[in-house]
Amino acid sequence: MTNSESAHVEFDVTKPSISRVYDAMLGGKDYYPSDERVLDHLREAMPDVYELAKLNRAALNRGVRYLAGTAGLTQYLDLGAGLPTMENTHQVAQELQPDASVIYVDNDPIVLAHARALMSLNGRTGVITADLRDPEGVLAHPDVQRLIDFSQPVAVMLVGMLHHLHDDEDPEGVVDAYLDAVPVGSHLFITHFLHTGEESRALEKSFLEFLGTGRFRTYDEIIRLFRGCELVEPGLVPLSHWRPDGIVRDKLTLVEEIIVGGIAVKS
Ligand code: SAM
Repeated sequence: MTNSESAHVEFDVTKPSISRVYDAMLGGKDYYPSDERVLDHLREAMPDVYELAKLNRAALNRGVRYLAGTAGLTQYLDLGAGLPTMENTHQVAQELQPDASVIYVDNDPIVLAHARALMSLNGRTGVITADLRDPEGVLAHPDVQRLIDFSQPVAVMLVGMLHHLHDDEDPEGVVDAYLDAVPVGSHLFITHFLHTGEESRALEKSFLEFLGTGRFRTYDEIIRLFRGCELVEPGLVPLSHWRPDGIVRDKLTLVEEIIVGGIAVKS
């Protein structure tokens, strides 16, 4: 299914959806009782858990500004893109690089439906419904092939995404497959839940039990997901410390401590 096809999309609202739960945390209104139940349990485990999503989304915007502005990238593969919200990857990237191509990939069909309805998409922006655990299928998709020139650097974005892959789904292998497809000079942008001990364990338990995914990995496990690519300054850090727009307190809140991210270059 591509954004050029018109398809009737059905959602199973009896089961919670990662994209709807995340969007609700950001203030969106398109959630159902199944999602609300997850949100209640997450809030029980950590009352200010919604901050996690807000920190992540703000970092996504700063990261894309870095990729388009400082790194000068003009091609974006946004894997696990989520529902459209205030400032989306193509809007941020195309403001700085008007010719930038952006392809959004998500396995939740609601993302495509909302993208069609809410985003003013243009010829350089595509949205596909696909499972990123099938890199071959994603990379061969006609819209990906049309929008991305794989001989030129690509921003591979796995923002707020890899913690939704279980260990037995081989997140490292998934990253390898996308990195193998892009040339030197491409960038890898990852944000991820961080295991910090008891505090994060309780939240992880709620994520896994009620949403089905949400792994809090150790710092070393997350570093490994960068597959040897060279991290740009300031490295892999709590998102509040990743190129903040303003002054940030040294002492982070608990919720700020449990989400980290970084951008690395393939060399
Ligand atoms: N990247 C966006 C951001 O950081 O604001 C959205 C993050 S949201 C937490 C994770 C998204 O990944 C959801 O929209 C979910 O549907 C999508 N997702 C989860 N598993 C996926 C998979 N196997 N393939 C493609 N998308 C997936």
